[in-house]
Amino acid sequence: MKFDTAYSLSLDEKLSIYDVRDLNFDETTAFDSDKDSFLCPNDECRATFDTGNALSTFNAKNVNYLRTPHFKNKTSTRHIDGCRYASTHKTTTGENDDEREENFPSEWLLTRRQYERKNPVVGTEGNVPLDPTKAPSSRISTPLPASDTAPDKTSVFAHPVECYVSNIDDKDKLKSMPLKIGDHTATYWTFFKKIEYLQDNKGLIYWGKIKAIKDYTSSFRIDFEKKVWLDRKPYSVNVYLSKKLIENYRKRKAFLEQIKAAADSERPLYCFFYGVTPELQQVPSKKNPDQTFGVFSANIENLDHLIIREAPGVEGL
Ligand SMILES: [Zn+2]
Repeated sequence: MKFDTAYSLSLDEKLSIYDVRDLNFDETTAFDSDKDSFLCPNDECRATFDTGNALSTFNAKNVNYLRTPHFKNKTSTRHIDGCRYASTHKTTTGENDDEREENFPSEWLLTRRQYERKNPVVGTEGNVPLDPTKAPSSRISTPLPASDTAPDKTSVFAHPVECYVSNIDDKDKLKSMPLKIGDHTATYWTFFKKIEYLQDNKGLIYWGKIKAIKDYTSSFRIDFEKKVWLDRKPYSVNVYLSKKLIENYRKRKAFLEQIKAAADSERPLYCFFYGVTPELQQVPSKKNPDQTFGVFSANIENLDHLIIREAPGVEGL
């Protein structure tokens, strides 16, 4: 049994596991999922038990993961009769249902979800709860209306990406599941575009196998393996991550840990991004500085909309 959401005791809100990951890595938020308690999202069920009747998390804090993150029942977790989150099968069936993301959000919100901490963190002494009436001055964007935080919407890019990657062997499903991004609605299948076909359409989620990550210490360039063809000529594709972008990122530590490991990794890694479309540019040649060559390139503008990860199974597409 995988949960679409769980109730966070410290935030008094229902969160997806991707929200939890986002909060764990966010250096501007005092949140640690190990110090929180996650309870059944069914209001009636949750009200029946005390707050010790908690769920456990899987891959809530792992920067790089292969298996789909999720909340799950502990052996001791109880539910009321008829609660749809009650485990329906015996433990002997193994964990096969953990291997794919089944909760497809119908909309990916490009504005980040905001949280107001309502309850003190459980089990930590001397922790001063934030006064919800005083928003930190750094908080610029206004909170989303409650209707926009319904479970079928997500503001965490990793969620639709996990839906795509973990269900890559089920094209019919990806072709049938709707996804809305901004003003556009399409299917998961249509929204994810291989990097070599980026000229087909703008405004999609482009992805491809990483050829190399150039580490310039405070900035990075991600080179893709596949080339874009234009007028019968192949062009390299890359995206550039500026120093300023990384320094101002609220998940800077986790991001640097991930990209530095990726740069040294021997394993096949893929990059997914949204929001910019690489375009043909002329750049000076290193060997002959008075010569230029063409490359499809873009500057990433929002690190929340970029993911580097393993993606077994996408190779055969
Ligand atoms: Zn329940």
